Amino acid sequence: MSDFLDKVKSGANKMLDEVAKVAKTASQKTNNAVTQTKLSYSAHETEGKIKSVYAEMGKKVYDACKAGGEMPDFAESVEKIDKLYEEIADLKAKIAELKESVQCEKCGEYTKAGSKFCPKCGAALTTIAEDFAEEFIENIVPEVAVDTEEAAEEAAQAAQETNDTNEPAKRVVTIKAKKPVQEED
Ligand SMILES: [Zn+2]
Repeated sequence: MSDFLDKVKSGANKMLDEVAKVAKTASQKTNNAVTQTKLSYSAHETEGKIKSVYAEMGKKVYDACKAGGEMPDFAESVEKIDKLYEEIADLKAKIAELKESVQCEKCGEYTKAGSKFCPKCGAALTTIAEDFAEEFIENIVPEVAVDTEEAAEEAAQAAQETNDTNEPAKRVVTIKAKKPVQEED
């Protein structure tokens, strides 16, 4: 009985290990998110630069008024601000692109999310969910099935041995042991 539980526990531990591995893969794929954060920060900084150009212009207007002179020429400042706004637009476009993209594990190229293949190197692109499902079916399910089957056999054997002396115990063990075996197909 306790052997059966040990095996079930070991099966559960294997699953947890696998989940941890998948979580690691997920964090590698979201490097994309780090890039996005850096770009957002740049956009924020650029907004700050625009504000300081506006402040400079305001100061010049103030000084001119105070001195009773002519309005200063702001052509250079206007050009500066327009350039900074363009930079922000570029950064925002890049962020939007990244949000909609996945990174190829082979060559690092970003491509539209949902694409089946990398446009640069041709590698097949999978999603995290697909990776997990594939790994789960290929590696975890058979291992847990073997463990459960072995444990079920042992439990059934133990139940057989206690058949004569312990009727209720046999029933409990048999039900627990049979369920996973029947589900495995
Ligand atoms: Zn690629």
